[in-house]
Amino acid sequence: MPEGHTIHRLAAHHRSLLAGRPVAVSSPQGRFAAGAAALTGAELLDTEAYGKHLLHHYAGDRILHVHLGLYGVFSDGEQPVPPPIGQVRLRLTTDRHWIDLRGPTACELLSPPEVAVLRARLGADPLRDDADPDAAYARISRSGIALAALLLDQSIVAGAGLVYVSEVLFRAGIPPTRPGRELSAEAWQAIWIDLRELMKEGVTRGRIDTVHSRHMPEAMGRAPRVDRHGGEVYVYRRAGQPCLVCGTEILRSGLAGRNSYWCPACQP
Ligand SMILES: [Zn+2]
Repeated sequence: MPEGHTIHRLAAHHRSLLAGRPVAVSSPQGRFAAGAAALTGAELLDTEAYGKHLLHHYAGDRILHVHLGLYGVFSDGEQPVPPPIGQVRLRLTTDRHWIDLRGPTACELLSPPEVAVLRARLGADPLRDDADPDAAYARISRSGIALAALLLDQSIVAGAGLVYVSEVLFRAGIPPTRPGRELSAEAWQAIWIDLRELMKEGVTRGRIDTVHSRHMPEAMGRAPRVDRHGGEVYVYRRAGQPCLVCGTEILRSGLAGRNSYWCPACQP
């Protein structure tokens, strides 16, 4: 599933393609036909991301909400728009550009109160300046659940997925299994700041890189990582490989229904 940095990139990209011009909206596949009919012709005023949720704000208080989930994908291009291929749930076009959406978990029109409800159930998004890390820590510090599971809980921290969570805990030297209530306020502060920086870099680069420059392939004389997720990381999907810092074998285990990756020596 795409992590928050991808959704923030999409929000900025869609704004640059659509803002300020009337947008024709359709649902070639038909599953968003009513929403498309209610939206078509409206002008896009702004876009934003909230965790893994994408919002398009159109004139008339109409808000398009998209959650890509595991299979959702956007594509776009310049006019002329090609014939729809596959199950295109949503098609947005201006006189210059088109955007298609396939396979999302959510594609719906929301009113401002409904968006308020959505936001209320989301936690602090490290990529938003209005995020409240203290509220996140209040939840974490009361819980006996493993930190990795707490940080993946979108109602606590919105936008971070398994890659960022695994990596930020490695960088903090904290095992993913440590209960939330054993995390000090200072340690949380450091994790939050690091997460913000890593994710902001992800927005800029369009991929997740989490290793310090001294552990990059050039610095270590090693081959770059080959993985469809791209990016240089310490532990994510590196089970069985040597830790880039200490050489210990990276471990993986199931935690809250998700794989968890860590170095038992660097994260004692
Ligand atoms: Zn290590």
